[in-house]
Amino acid sequence: MIDFLLAISILASARHPHLYSTTADVARARFNAQKYEWAKAYFTAAQVEADKWAAMNDAQLRALIPPAGSIYAYGLSGCPICGANWPVWGANGIADISKPGLVICPKCRHVFPDAEHPDPGTGWHNPENGRDYYFIGVYNAHVAQMVTLHALRDLSTCYAITGDRKYSRAAASLFDQLADVYPTSIVGAFDYPNGDHNTGRLERPQYQVARVLVLLADDLDLLYDSPDFSAPSASGKGSVREYVEQNIIADGGKYCYDFVNTGKMALTNGQADYVRGALAAGIILDKKEWIDCALTGPYRLESFIDNCLDRDGQYYETSVGYSDHCLSLYTDMAEMLYNLRTPEHPNGINYYEHPKLQKALFKAGIDINCMGHTPRFGDWGPDTAAVTSDKHFSLCPYVFSEMLEARAADKAGRVKWAAARSYICDGEVEARRSDKALGDFRHWFFWHADKIEEHSGPMPKFDPQPILGGRGVAVLRSGEGSKGKAALLRYGPSLNHSHFDDLNLNFFDLGRELTYDLGYALGSAHVQVGWSKTTASHNLVVVNEKNQLTEPGSGGSAYFYVEKGPVRAVEASSEASYVSEGVKTYRRTLALIDAGKGSYLVDIFRVAGGNQHDLMWHFGGTLAGINGADMGNVEPGSLAGPDIEWGTKVIAGGDLAGCADKGTYWAAPPGNGYGFLYNVRRSTSISPECTATWKVDDKQDTASLHMLPEPGAQIITAKAPGIELSLPKPEYAIVRRKGHNLKSAFVSVVEASENGGAVRSVKRMECDADEAVGVEIETMDGTDYVLSSTKAEPVVFKTASGEAIRFNGLFGFLRERDEKIERGVLTGGTELSMASYKLTSDKAQYMAKVMAVDLKQAQLTLDKELPTDFMGQIVYINRGDYSHNSPYYIKSVNGKNLALAEDLVLSRGQIGTEKPVSADTIMNIVPLPRARIVSWKPSGYFRGKLIVNNRTGASSSIIDVNDDYLSIRVHNPGAFKPGDGFTIYDVQVGDEVKIPVSVSD
Ligand SMILES: [Zn+2]
Ligand SMILES: [Zn+2]
Repeated sequence: MIDFLLAISILASARHPHLYSTTADVARARFNAQKYEWAKAYFTAAQVEADKWAAMNDAQLRALIPPAGSIYAYGLSGCPICGANWPVWGANGIADISKPGLVICPKCRHVFPDAEHPDPGTGWHNPENGRDYYFIGVYNAHVAQMVTLHALRDLSTCYAITGDRKYSRAAASLFDQLADVYPTSIVGAFDYPNGDHNTGRLERPQYQVARVLVLLADDLDLLYDSPDFSAPSASGKGSVREYVEQNIIADGGKYCYDFVNTGKMALTNGQADYVRGALAAGIILDKKEWIDCALTGPYRLESFIDNCLDRDGQYYETSVGYSDHCLSLYTDMAEMLYNLRTPEHPNGINYYEHPKLQKALFKAGIDINCMGHTPRFGDWGPDTAAVTSDKHFSLCPYVFSEMLEARAADKAGRVKWAAARSYICDGEVEARRSDKALGDFRHWFFWHADKIEEHSGPMPKFDPQPILGGRGVAVLRSGEGSKGKAALLRYGPSLNHSHFDDLNLNFFDLGRELTYDLGYALGSAHVQVGWSKTTASHNLVVVNEKNQLTEPGSGGSAYFYVEKGPVRAVEASSEASYVSEGVKTYRRTLALIDAGKGSYLVDIFRVAGGNQHDLMWHFGGTLAGINGADMGNVEPGSLAGPDIEWGTKVIAGGDLAGCADKGTYWAAPPGNGYGFLYNVRRSTSISPECTATWKVDDKQDTASLHMLPEPGAQIITAKAPGIELSLPKPEYAIVRRKGHNLKSAFVSVVEASENGGAVRSVKRMECDADEAVGVEIETMDGTDYVLSSTKAEPVVFKTASGEAIRFNGLFGFLRERDEKIERGVLTGGTELSMASYKLTSDKAQYMAKVMAVDLKQAQLTLDKELPTDFMGQIVYINRGDYSHNSPYYIKSVNGKNLALAEDLVLSRGQIGTEKPVSADTIMNIVPLPRARIVSWKPSGYFRGKLIVNNRTGASSSIIDVNDDYLSIRVHNPGAFKPGDGFTIYDVQVGDEVKIPVSVSD
């Protein structure tokens, strides 16, 4: 009998916590707090804060919570007096609980509200500039964050570890009072861009509600069994626990669950947030349908993994910031599901064993890293930092390696992930656990990280993969760490959170991102919509002064990648991005070439179609001057004309002065960003080689750009704003060509150096073919020749000294030193010769047809045999009606059998019960994120691809995805019945494979 009672009591106490942490995790955290410095530091900091709250009485704690009916705000309008931009939500000392209801400008130190700027709680409207200022709203947001992100976290942690009721007593007061206002504080932040239509809870708009709800659910879970939560609520509505469950967990959970089912957010990061909010509330409240939305519905975690991560583990939203963020949402769900105990899943579900998620959590972060920088493309803050460390360390892969190690199903898995962790920490795992940069992840470490099992044996190596075919990214790299160089070319598709910047370049050298992508702050701000997101703000060619991606379609193909020191080169195109301008060629060839102590980058940008081509270049720092061009006086206005000048009008929050009436998401006319380019100067005369130099810092660091403008071209320089007042203002150098149905092949050479680089001069070579481009580069130790042609046809180039170079290939490189050819590289061709030097290849490329596909094993059977030495090389797979080709790494070759290194699944979905909208349509209910480009038009990405019924094995090919990004037109709709799951594959019988041959000596 006693045993039975004991068992019951153990079961009862084992019930909570069980959401993110279990009773075993509590025991581990207690041990960690005793044993390890990193855990001790985390706990001590929490205790210092928790003790402050615990010293306050019930009335004092309750008085902190803004009364019902209060509004909350970001503070996006900044300071009404000095115009300073304010950090959001009253951060950085703008608001403080010692001064209730007041905010202080961090710049001019003025305190608001005051007599001139009164705020009755609903904000102050400035009639002069039309802007609204929510001083009290900002203060309230600060308090809400202090309570939900800090006080309750620290109190619940300290209660769980010490069992001291002073912590649960204080937490109960705060939680009980918060529950009073939570379900009626439904606007979210008052100044969030969606204006009148916005919803949320407290200061959080929309899916951000989930970000706080999951924390509150975790806190309640840790405090659940405290007698202070069984005590009556001051509201008179049951116990504190019941009141919090009802008014916060159930209310927030329903908010999230209802949003999930609208399907409006498709499979974006916002939807992942809603799903995890519903899941957390569902687990706390034992609500099966809320739990099931993460397990069985169309928006289940599996759907996210299948459709949002590609074969390389890269995430689809076109910004690495969003990739990292969304992976943290997936692991957040994975954590909850690991601990899940339901009749259907008595032992939980371990998503950390999912191969694609594993790839995304670790290798994908290494593959995208550019010399210690997580590269900026699309919506993410700009990267103006200089890296000085040569370590492998990268935050997200590190944190995720800890999770993978902790959650590995067996010993082998733990050993594998411990080795990966050791690599990313350069062997210093213990030290990394104390890293302040871990931020909120430290909470996970505290509960879940165990003793570090040191990795013995040789350190594994994780070399970054240069071509990421799913994401459409190629990275050329030379060297490592802070002294390394990297050039990233993104050829699309440009999906959610992208900028209009197919074929943009990010270039890293001298420890920095020299190309300074302007990035992202507030998505609705005038400077974001009208400038930073436009094609013109980037380093690429703008056609007809128009943005890319105004018509359906985006993304293109890669043609070759070659890496044969001292050269790495790649070529890709994305004609789809300028369909609107009738562009037939939009193609970029990059070669990163080591010379002297550094490397230089050769860029050949081909464009055919349109009547004006503007090659845009900008780097961080200041444009110190241009050699080879005489520049005229500064023109009034902007590059859009003398009457428009937006570039100098950016104010706090990224809006434009005097444009409050334009509202949010407004693109200032003419809408293409040209109105932001001010201080315009145009060349009055130019020579065949013009060199612009940017001073990158206050030392000797420079970025030099050699431009080779053709006759009739013009060079334009201009200044532009960054996306926040505090950010550097980029300076542009633009090569402009005009003409009817224009054809351009712009040549540029970029070199960064600490005190003078290796490049002496750059010349365009004469040649006898239209498509071919040859560049002769004099360096401090010889002459390099870079040759490029889009067709492998015989071409003769003439060097500056009158010698002939015969070339038949896609890419060629020669290095001449002391009148001898020291190095030759030939890709996709048969001949490269100069004087007595000759480099040849029997074959330009191997081509074959796919006769059979093993879809599960990613093995192709071809119609002819391939040589065996292609292992590790790239095969390019295509077919007439596809929107793009697909590069795959070759795992092995055996006669006609070609095994690929990545899996072939593009997407997975399920047929719903709705009536088909047309006879050839199947009614898929799982959103297809790659079907929609950033401008919310169809991508054409799935056109022609193979779709297979998972139940019957029957297949069809896709005509296209409809513009609901769900339903799919197929050639054989009868093969799919309601309820059937299906898989879309990237490769099928009849596809063509190409492998360009590279030779060198
Ligand atoms: Zn101020
Ligand atoms: Zn950008």
